[in-house]
Amino acid sequence: MIIPLEIKSCKECPHFHEERMYTSDSWEMTFGWFCKKADDRKIKGYVERYEERKIQIPEWCPFQTALSRYTEKLGQDPDDDIYTIEEWNIAVEDGWIGNSDGRGYWVKDGFASRDEVFSTPQLDATHVIWYNK
Ligand code: SF4
Repeated sequence: MIIPLEIKSCKECPHFHEERMYTSDSWEMTFGWFCKKADDRKIKGYVERYEERKIQIPEWCPFQTALSRYTEKLGQDPDDDIYTIEEWNIAVEDGWIGNSDGRGYWVKDGFASRDEVFSTPQLDATHVIWYNK
C-alpha cells in the first residue's frame, strides 16, 4: 500500500537524517542535514535549531524531480510503443532505433515526461514511449 505524504520540511520526510556537526564553540549545537534517498547528499550543513523552519526542500529532491518531470498521463493509443529501459537500451545499442527514426520520451508510473530520450538523461525513468516517424 502506498500512502501519499505531504511535507513542508525535509525533517518530516522518512528519508531525512541529521548528524551533529561540531564547531570551535563547544556550546554550539549544529547539525548536518542529509538525504538518504539521494545517497546521503547534504541538504545543509551547520543547521541550528532556530533556523530549521527556514530551510526549504532542495530542488534536487528525488521526489520533487519525479513529480515535476512526469506530467503527461499515458493514453491507450495502440500506435504508441512502450519499452522497458532494458528493451530500449538493447534497441538503441543494436541499432533498431536511432535518433532520426522518430521521437521518444522517458516514462515512469504511467506518466511520460517531455524530456526527449536522445537529448536528456534517463534518471529514474523505467520506460520509454516511442513514436516512429
Ligand atoms: S530531499 Fe526530498 S527525499 Fe530527501 S529528505 Fe528532503 S524531502 Fe526527503
